[in-house]
Amino acid sequence: TFKALVVNQVEGQNKVSIEKWTDANLSEGDVLVDVEYSSFNYKDGLALAGLNSILRKFPIVPGIDYAGTVRSSENSKFKAGDKVILTGWGVGERWSGGFAQRARAKSEWLIKLPEGMTTKQAMAIGTAGLTAMLSVMALERYGITPNSDILVSGAAGGVGSVAVRLLSRKGYRVHALTGRPEQADFLKSLGATALVDRATMSAKGRPLQAEQWDGAIDVAGGEMLVNILASLRYGGAVAACGLAASLDLPATMFPFILRNIALLGVDSVMCPLEQRHEAWTRLNAELTEQDFAALTTEVELEAVPALAKDILAGQVRGRTVVKL
Ligand code: NAP
Repeated sequence: TFKALVVNQVEGQNKVSIEKWTDANLSEGDVLVDVEYSSFNYKDGLALAGLNSILRKFPIVPGIDYAGTVRSSENSKFKAGDKVILTGWGVGERWSGGFAQRARAKSEWLIKLPEGMTTKQAMAIGTAGLTAMLSVMALERYGITPNSDILVSGAAGGVGSVAVRLLSRKGYRVHALTGRPEQADFLKSLGATALVDRATMSAKGRPLQAEQWDGAIDVAGGEMLVNILASLRYGGAVAACGLAASLDLPATMFPFILRNIALLGVDSVMCPLEQRHEAWTRLNAELTEQDFAALTTEVELEAVPALAKDILAGQVRGRTVVKL
């Protein structure tokens, strides 16, 4: 048996408990993995709180990402002892996820741990860090280059803090938008050039505003994303990857047709393997052990249920790794 955090549904309510599971409880797949680390993402907060119908079957082990060592494999691409990473693909939603000491996965979902990276570092990055890199890559593909002004919303959160670190290291001027001014030192230590107060961008604004940013990464959606669109410079783009503020997008056409701007969607869940490989290779090259230490808090599995409320309230700083 092994330890698993399990969500059961009792009279329409999620009930979270730590149970002893066996391999027979896990979803099907051709690779069995001893999980060493998982991480806590916003989507895990939604899942544990029973919001947005994230969990699609019960009982289930949530946890949308993990890293560990292959225990056994029916696929020749992997063998016992290989170190692997899994993010997305519906794991921790419809397939048993990372908040357990063991997981079973489909081999086509797994990425080999990059040379020199530890499983803990992989989960310090996790889904949020991968999404930060995919967002940077989306801006670059669009043609945005260093030495330009990039706004990052939710800067003190998971996606945001990794994005600030990645962009500043590449030579972008990073404007860190946060609702937590007390995190100013943290954000400056990650390389933020300037801080922007969330309150100045949260309320409904004019359809066209002063041109301030060449690009942006937005985790919030809603009026925040609309205000970002309205304040991009001519030809700018925003990589939109989250909905921490709202699912809605009550925007106008003006910035698109008068300023030639672009709205770039970013998804990490079904992201093709080729892009994932590129992103993980870059994350391995561009982040240092010092970055991981600055970005990460480590918790035990027992601490996970209480994190849901914190992350949904925007109170989690940086990344949280879960030790299995
Ligand atoms: P997180 O650690 O909680 O970060 C979110 C941050 O957003 C918070 O720390 C807070 O930062 C800010 N925030 C909170 N409420 C807000 C509001 N009402 N308006 C504006 N900003 C607000 O979560 P995460 O794991 O980084 O995920 C962030 C978002 O990205 C979530 O919506 C998540 O679902 C999404 N996401 C999407 C993908 C994808 O594949 N597209 C992958 C990963 C995550 P400050 O205190 O600094 O303002």
